[in-house]
Amino acid sequence: MNQPEIRVRFAPSPTGALHIGGVRTALYNYLFAKKHNGKFLLRIEDTDQNRYVDFAENYIKESLEWLGIVPDESPWAGGLCSPYRQSERKEIYQEYAHKMVAEGKAYYAFDTAEELEAMRKRLETEGVSNPQYNALSREQMKNSLTLPKEEVEARLKAGEPYTIRIKVPRKEEIRLNDLVRGWVVVHSSQIDDKVLLKSDGMPTYHLANVVDDYLMGITHVIRGEEWLPSAPLHVLLYRFLGWEAKMPQFAHLPLLLKPDGNGKLSKRDGDMHGFPVFPLAWTNPETQETVRGFREEGYLPEALINFLAFLGWNPGTEQEIFSLDELVQAFSIEKISKAGAKFDIKKAQWFNQYYIKQKDNAFWVNYLLQNCPYPLEKIQAEAIVALLKDRITFPKDFWEQAPYLFQTPENYDEQTLASKWTNEVSLVLKQWKTLIPTIDNKDWNAENIKHTLQQITENQGIKLGKVMQPIRIALTGVAQGADLMLIAQIIGKDETLKRIEKILAKMLQKEKI
Ligand code: GLU
Repeated sequence: MNQPEIRVRFAPSPTGALHIGGVRTALYNYLFAKKHNGKFLLRIEDTDQNRYVDFAENYIKESLEWLGIVPDESPWAGGLCSPYRQSERKEIYQEYAHKMVAEGKAYYAFDTAEELEAMRKRLETEGVSNPQYNALSREQMKNSLTLPKEEVEARLKAGEPYTIRIKVPRKEEIRLNDLVRGWVVVHSSQIDDKVLLKSDGMPTYHLANVVDDYLMGITHVIRGEEWLPSAPLHVLLYRFLGWEAKMPQFAHLPLLLKPDGNGKLSKRDGDMHGFPVFPLAWTNPETQETVRGFREEGYLPEALINFLAFLGWNPGTEQEIFSLDELVQAFSIEKISKAGAKFDIKKAQWFNQYYIKQKDNAFWVNYLLQNCPYPLEKIQAEAIVALLKDRITFPKDFWEQAPYLFQTPENYDEQTLASKWTNEVSLVLKQWKTLIPTIDNKDWNAENIKHTLQQITENQGIKLGKVMQPIRIALTGVAQGADLMLIAQIIGKDETLKRIEKILAKMLQKEKI
């Protein structure tokens, strides 16, 4: 028998910046679809007009494009199930909501906000800990189950506002077999008669989500664990709509936890520890406050993908480095873990270091020529890349980690300088100073530079090691760093000379005092 095509969806609500957990959900959906030669859909769930935020949809699109997890069907790419924005599908949901009323699976409710509030208070005084509109309480409310038929019709005719609520059975067990969590069994008394259609004619999340998953042929619902409590209601909706046979399988993904594992990862954790929790920079439209994203922090898409893939999944082998294509091959829902995943940003940095090293030097030379805030010749850029590529975590480290490559040091590691500066050092530097100008510009490279220095130290019977650190401080201001001769080569002959002269003047001045 032919297996039906696998179809999965990512269904974000455009209410603000896409949280990194949402990106992981999108990634897992993408991986699962591609692994099974299926389709990855993106649906915009924008039925809650109060929470709608302009730009959010575009932000989602840009984030996924940056990461290369591009949907096969979406509001932008189109597809057979268009439209992919729920706000454009209003009539569809209305039709199904009314159908459910006609079949006795849902009902009209005319209660005002005050009446609902009064019900809540009444139930509370009766000692009900979790007051809800349900099989018991609905009997005392104004709805099409309690009001005479004629009155209901009259109210509808008069255009009185109403909602449509699902009629949850009183005593029944609702079961679903989640692919990650196993059997989930909930008693229907735990579920309230949720509103399906609001008084403004818009569906709620539950109705729109289920109707669309069905109409879009979704076979697997892969989403965050926070939606697990909604799943039993969705199961009921599939049944009431007569779609049980086509109900998708559910897979609820583990939560993303704070770095220490104590509680859910939040935006505040990012602010507190200085790491991003959004893929791209986001400016809050109300406060105008901008937070940087993984992209602006200098994470490569490959690194973020690799990092996110491991937040809740692992291949069951030692392999840690995976390209997107390799992830597609390796991915399976069975290997998703139940336990929450700690957001260990150090691991993200580790992946970033790895992927920076993986890119060839020409890529970074180009990058530096375009992005380095200091003027740079190509030949210098090449040397900088060779010098630092294996030592940095973020691209901006090329200039931030080694400011001395671009600027004469203002400050020196005085302590080390004082302890390493000797008459011998002073002598060697003075001689080197006179020797440097004799090197032809075209021969100014690490090897020749070292050679001139060796000549002097050998003549004087001094160990090269004795002068290296003071020279390092002279050229960079600091006692540690990358290959010193390469640094001299990069800053150039004139600048090297200038820095040697500067330190000599400084130290000789001191000697006089
Ligand atoms: N619109 C929901 C969200 O914002 C979708 C949940 C689901 O995938 O069913 O996450």
